[in-house]
Amino acid sequence: MNTIRVTILALIALFVTSSFCVADGNFSKKDTVERQTVDIGKCDQGNNFVMVIHGGAGYKEYKLKEKAALIKNLLDNCKKLLHDGATSLDVVHFAIREMEDSGLFNAGKGSRKNKNGFIEMDASIMDGKNMQAGAVASVSSKIKNPISAAKLILEKSDNVMFVGGSAEKYVNKIASFKVGVDDNERFANSDTTSPHGTVGSVALDKCGNLAAGTSTGGFGRKIPGRVGDSPIIGAGTYANDKVAVSCTGHGEYFIRWAVAHDVAALYSYKNLTIAEAAKQALGKIVANGGTGGIIAIDSAGNITMPFNTKGMMRGSVSSNTEPFVAIY
Ligand code: ASP
Repeated sequence: MNTIRVTILALIALFVTSSFCVADGNFSKKDTVERQTVDIGKCDQGNNFVMVIHGGAGYKEYKLKEKAALIKNLLDNCKKLLHDGATSLDVVHFAIREMEDSGLFNAGKGSRKNKNGFIEMDASIMDGKNMQAGAVASVSSKIKNPISAAKLILEKSDNVMFVGGSAEKYVNKIASFKVGVDDNERFANSDTTSPHGTVGSVALDKCGNLAAGTSTGGFGRKIPGRVGDSPIIGAGTYANDKVAVSCTGHGEYFIRWAVAHDVAALYSYKNLTIAEAAKQALGKIVANGGTGGIIAIDSAGNITMPFNTKGMMRGSVSSNTEPFVAIY
């Protein structure tokens, strides 16, 4: 009798487990315990879709092959997700979260440490469909994925940006899944100088909606409390119904010239192409000594990825094209 009961319980357990492990692209519903999933099928219109990813401006001989392979893989997965009706906001979040978790970039797990040996991460995300945005700045290892924290703020808060310990507490309060780790092991391999890169992504979905996101550990050996452009809407990240922009580089320049918004303004008010708008916006900081790069797309699916550094890890994919990855 006992054997029968154990067998039945085991079968029920197996059924429950397997029904929560149905693969959605590269991840499973099991992840909802700790992570947000991509909502497939929200976008059932037939527009062309586009996705662009960057892994930071600047060039260092550091795991280039691994980084390029990861970006290629993400583009493959995101193409499938977008094809199946995922929203631009969801795929931007998904791609950045994977890059944060890879440890290959200066974001999330791979974040550089500040002058005092601590991680202080910044991230932001913006939904061009409704101008909603979320951001965190100077969050510690208590937040596993800063981009997920930013997305939670976008979705669940009336505010846009939270900082430091208060951000960590607030985000844990509004999350329905575990966002915190307080896991120093996760950051054990980080140091102050590791040649990683900030990460970012922009996407256009089948509904014609745009989204943008950026995540970074900031400058290595930065003064504690220093915040760059990445979590600042209009500086490092911007999306509206016409363009989506994510920046990387010397943050102080991107903040002062409000580069991400400048791309949107040049595109709209001067009626420039997205390539010309991004070139002109980057040109302004370059003329003043700034360095970095921009990825940007418009609602027609045009892509541009200018930079003035030796390289910028980057890639793109669309409904009509296969993944393209480049460094130089
Ligand atoms: N923009 C980032 C910052 O200033 C760094 C980077 O993109 O490499 O924090």
